[in-house]
Amino acid sequence: MANPAQDSAGGRVSGLTRQQAEAARRTYGWNELPRGRRTGPLKVFLRQFSNFLVLILIAAGIIAFTLGEYADTLAIGLVIGLNGILGFVQEWRAETALESLRSMLSPQALAVRDGREQVIEARELVPGDLIILEAGARVPADAHLEEAAGLRLDESALTGESVPVDKAPGGDAAEVFAGTVVAAGRALAVVTATGARTAFGEIAALTGAVGLKKTNLQVQLGRLARQLGFAALAIASAILALGLYMGRDAAEMFMTGLSLSVAMVPEGLPAVVTITLALGAAAMVRQKALARRLQAVETLGAASVICTDKTGTLTENKMTVTRVWTLDRIYQVTGTGYDPAGHIAWNGAVTGAREDAVLAQLLEAGLTCTHASLHREGGHWQMTGAPTEGALVTLGYKGWAELPPPDSVLAEIPFSSERKRMSVLVKGIGGEKVLTKGAPEQVLSLCTEVLTQNGPRQLGAEQTAAITEAYEVMAAEGLRVIGLATGTAPGGEIREQDMTFLGLAGLIDPPRPEVRAAIGAARSAGIRVIMITGDSPLTAKAIAAQLGLPAGKTLTGDALEALEDAELDRILQQDVLFARTRPAHKMRIVSALQGQHQIVAMTGDGVNDAPALKQADIGVSMGVRGTDVAKDASDLVLLDDNFATIVRAIGEGRRQFTNVRKFVRYLLSSNAGEVIALLINILIGGPLIFLATQILWMNLVTDGVTAVALGLEKGEPDQMEHPPRRKDAPIVGKAGLLTILALGLYTGLASLWLFLHLLDGNEDLARTAAFTAMVVFEKASVFAFRSLHLPCWRIGFFSNPLLLAALAVTIGAQVAAVYWPPLQVLLHTVPLQAEHWGLIALLVLPVLVVPEVLKTLRYLASRRTSRAAAAA
Ligand code: ATP
Repeated sequence: MANPAQDSAGGRVSGLTRQQAEAARRTYGWNELPRGRRTGPLKVFLRQFSNFLVLILIAAGIIAFTLGEYADTLAIGLVIGLNGILGFVQEWRAETALESLRSMLSPQALAVRDGREQVIEARELVPGDLIILEAGARVPADAHLEEAAGLRLDESALTGESVPVDKAPGGDAAEVFAGTVVAAGRALAVVTATGARTAFGEIAALTGAVGLKKTNLQVQLGRLARQLGFAALAIASAILALGLYMGRDAAEMFMTGLSLSVAMVPEGLPAVVTITLALGAAAMVRQKALARRLQAVETLGAASVICTDKTGTLTENKMTVTRVWTLDRIYQVTGTGYDPAGHIAWNGAVTGAREDAVLAQLLEAGLTCTHASLHREGGHWQMTGAPTEGALVTLGYKGWAELPPPDSVLAEIPFSSERKRMSVLVKGIGGEKVLTKGAPEQVLSLCTEVLTQNGPRQLGAEQTAAITEAYEVMAAEGLRVIGLATGTAPGGEIREQDMTFLGLAGLIDPPRPEVRAAIGAARSAGIRVIMITGDSPLTAKAIAAQLGLPAGKTLTGDALEALEDAELDRILQQDVLFARTRPAHKMRIVSALQGQHQIVAMTGDGVNDAPALKQADIGVSMGVRGTDVAKDASDLVLLDDNFATIVRAIGEGRRQFTNVRKFVRYLLSSNAGEVIALLINILIGGPLIFLATQILWMNLVTDGVTAVALGLEKGEPDQMEHPPRRKDAPIVGKAGLLTILALGLYTGLASLWLFLHLLDGNEDLARTAAFTAMVVFEKASVFAFRSLHLPCWRIGFFSNPLLLAALAVTIGAQVAAVYWPPLQVLLHTVPLQAEHWGLIALLVLPVLVVPEVLKTLRYLASRRTSRAAAAA
């Protein structure tokens, strides 16, 4: 197939100009479906009032009203309203954050515009556009095939038929449809219909993927909240019955029961989790990782193995040929990138296609057996196509080889990761011939001759050994090596046999500078990194060494196939690197690792990587070079294709999970204090210590705000210095339960003591003091939860300014609750005196000091042990 970019003659379709496309768009509109309307704000607002808890509150409000408790009715009403507004703001923010993530996944297409191949937004396509279809791409519009090489389409989305169908120009098989997927091959097609006019307009399928689907964590927490809700109702009913039996006032007992149930349920929890995960996903995008499912963020924090490919993820994927090897000459190549400024030198002298017949044929193969092309834009050279091919085209320019005329390619067997080579049939001066390039051992296996300065020679054992040795020397230096060959084409067909070996090209693809540190960070976080590459073992090993990636054993794809499961299991326990693999091998490696209870993150970019990406706990696809199919199958898209981004995303996942743990424990410990105070007080027969409205105030107004701020706590300095958590690690756990109970017991008993201490004089005053003390305790206890194991001085007192702001606002609100007449009426409070504040200040000290002292002691002890371990 000819390079359309070079095509202008011959009456063939050559794509539209930008102006033509603009004009067509005015007629046909954008290539997109009318969007399903997103949930409107009113609906999101009303949704806040549909949950069980709010319904109970509404019922309570009505009962309070009928009992003549108008202030309580108003207070409950206000709390419901405020809660609704808070919930709305949070959910709307989450919805908007996800909406912007969705728009980042908008599909793209490869089209010929202004005579040049370019990547454009799929929505910009118009009928008449010339598009290029490549393996793994989703067909962006209905189109008519002009040319095709080995094209097979997966039309299952359209027809339900899961076996890919062959497509070729001419006849019925020439029509391709939007939404179907290129399973293999390559084609050139003219768009016939776009947007709503396509047979099947599911171009938005990819975009619609990010959703508010519940994650495990949310399900687990939802369950916890429900269990607590039922327990609360049961305990409240029991207390109501007991109170009535003891002859106490029915209205008061009803309000007590209600207060208790409200105190037990962490109302804000599900909303806080959703907002934390959604804002976390938005934060990850700023770090170039796009989570397609919120679930991914959560699982990422538990990842224990990262399986990564090499080219483009660990390395830059900016290839430059630096050395060319033929049987009798070794050439050095200068220049970098895709700028043809540079030259080829042999024996210290500049040379090129004109002076060297062997070199000329090798350069021709690199320039012709390709889809890459160079062009100048604004004084800079740009390359379109695969970097490996771009490097060989650049080499051709450097050696002053003649550019192949348009339409010189008559047929092609496209490159695939399975075959690891590509061949074309071209028109030559003396007839038709075949040009092949690919992995050297693949190309060599097709050859019976080798070209020398004295013409072709039989490829004997000696020559094969020389070629293999040259290949190994280059690969051991970390060069990516490509073999090139030429052959005859009897009958005008591509026959990949009896070919003549031309030589080897050695390409450097430098490691990305940040990857070495990222691999180090992953290792100290207890996460193993396993390279799985299609490149040769020696190249892979050399790159691994440059990156500080331990690779005790190198296993090729063929060797892997020969292994028994048990043996693979054993090998996967050590440091290992997989090379010359095919996509199917990834699946086996993921399964084996999962069999060892590892949580596996697996990268992939090609059409055949999809099964492994789906099977992995976290499928990671490449935003830049990944195919639509791989992106569709993945949970996480790397916007910069960079390995370091995966490690950063894991850090972010850990941070979020830890933060969820923090605020869950915080909210539960606050509720525990309230419940303990209420229960003990009822058992000893005292008057109600907290009123229902006061509890609602504590839980919904002051704690909710603090919990959201806690969810924004920064990553702890040592979060990447300990091994990953188990996937099913509990959110609360034994240690958590102990903290919750200890804090709850202290705050409950302390406020109860204060209440009983002041009760002699004035019940309202005693209650106001106990209520305020509880709020102050709850605010102070948040410091104990800022880190679950590090003392505050280690994480920095001011490192979460939002939390400090939330504390200032909520304490301010409590002062208003005590001194501002309208709130006094609503909350039944009276002004406190300085001595009461003094008592509260004294009582809060242990809440501030004891957890800090304990954590400091534990921190120092653990440092001592790790120092001792390091010394040993
Ligand atoms: P990774 O799996 O780490 O991305 P890779 O790019 O080397 O590495 P593949 O794309 O499977 O993996 O390529 C396998 C081999 O095929 C390469 O090492 C190279 O020798 C050869 N190759 C790569 N691209 C082409 C191409 N466009 N034409 C011909 N051969 C190619």
